Amino acid sequence: MPESYGPGATSALFPNRQDRQLWDDFLTRELACAHERVTEGMVRPTLDLAAFREELAGFEFRAPQPIGELLPWVIAQMEHGLVHVTHPRYLGLFNPVPTFPAQCADRIVGLFNPQLASATTSPAAVEIERHTIRAIARRAGLAAEATGTFTSGGTEANYTALLCALTQACPAYATDGVRAFAGPPVFYVSRESHLAWLKIAHQVGIGRTAVRLVATDGHGRMDAASLAAEVERDCGRGDVPVMIAATAGTTGGGMIDPLAACAEIARRAGLWYHVDAAWGGALIASDRLRHHLSGIEQADSMTIDAHKWFATTMGCGMFITARPSLLPSVFGVSTSFMPPSTCPELDPYVTTVQWSRRFLGLRLFLALAAAGWTGYGEHVERAVALAGLLKDALAAHGWRIANDSTLAVVCAVPPAGFGEVRPLVGRVVAAGRAWVSAAAFEGQEVVRACVTHGETTPDDIMAVVDALQAAK
Ligand SMILES: *Cc1c(COP(=O)(O)O)cnc(C)c1O
Repeated sequence: MPESYGPGATSALFPNRQDRQLWDDFLTRELACAHERVTEGMVRPTLDLAAFREELAGFEFRAPQPIGELLPWVIAQMEHGLVHVTHPRYLGLFNPVPTFPAQCADRIVGLFNPQLASATTSPAAVEIERHTIRAIARRAGLAAEATGTFTSGGTEANYTALLCALTQACPAYATDGVRAFAGPPVFYVSRESHLAWLKIAHQVGIGRTAVRLVATDGHGRMDAASLAAEVERDCGRGDVPVMIAATAGTTGGGMIDPLAACAEIARRAGLWYHVDAAWGGALIASDRLRHHLSGIEQADSMTIDAHKWFATTMGCGMFITARPSLLPSVFGVSTSFMPPSTCPELDPYVTTVQWSRRFLGLRLFLALAAAGWTGYGEHVERAVALAGLLKDALAAHGWRIANDSTLAVVCAVPPAGFGEVRPLVGRVVAAGRAWVSAAAFEGQEVVRACVTHGETTPDDIMAVVDALQAAK
């Protein structure tokens, strides 16, 4: 038995209202200052890792330490120990500076901590997520019944798609696993697709060799003729095709597979058609650019990451499906301890991968409500325009642009005299004024720069060009 029920050491975990307010205010102020310093400083980490590990080893958690010392320590470690995706000259992998409404959402959710497993216990939260997902689905051109779920990210959404495809192709997969299939199940993505597909194939039990990496057309897009030929060949030899997953915005080059042609091949072969639009999907926000995604409306399911171009905080993807009636046969389960359900198809624990789940959707709901489609449309158009500026400036310095993307990513081959791409990128990153990455596009080494930050300016773009030129 505890000696008293009054405040003691536990007040470190649950401080009184006055102390909470104090540290809340402290955090608000200090984080704003830290953000300002980050924006002015190095994009890359400036931490001495050996010293940091030693300091960290000092945390043995024996005696309590005052929060007033811990909070500034943690902020300082973040400030020095990260590649700063919130820096306007971070032109990197699709890690955004989060929108302010998304950050507000995290704060609100942190307080109420709703359990999103069940619609009975968190009706308001479940309805907000559902409403938001359906708005995205309709904006992508899906029919009114289309719905979906917020996920930890694109990988979980793609994993959900493959589970649906397998269950759709062979309902006994749900009970008997891959043994239920007449032959080895296989699915199709392009060589330029996101290779988390390999891990996903492993997780669903069909193995990594089930991933057919279809040839691309020399411009980073799935070659539709090769796709059709591979499906036919696999059927002919007793393999069981279950899904075609086109990529709308490849991670490396921002290329969009021929969505309508892939849909047609899937339809003819009776396969699940998934579109992985993890980052490119945000184009739906722009009236001017959304036509590039034409064909996406034919998808049985799609992945759009809110934590990429919709710029929510990390860990927020979306799985959207035109066939929600399948979900209970993939994820259904009944237990005695969950609250009785008034409307089981609304309960996330029987329609999604996760069980206990954070209220992720508020981040996108709040941002979309605050900015409207117009605001998000401007956000993506702005990024595309800045990428155009970068392309032109690099081309003017003799760089060759390898990708012809309608998204905000530039894959550039340096002119003679710059040496190999990877050491070149290493020098740019080490100098700390900008962050770009090295990637392979259609088998060629390129410098990859992706506009991910909603407040990057034309001056920042010119500074990135200078940083690249200076790394010669
Ligand atoms: C980022 C990305 C993924 C993986 O998504 P996570 O959110 O990182 O899990 C999948 N596909 C594409 C096209 C991506 O760009």
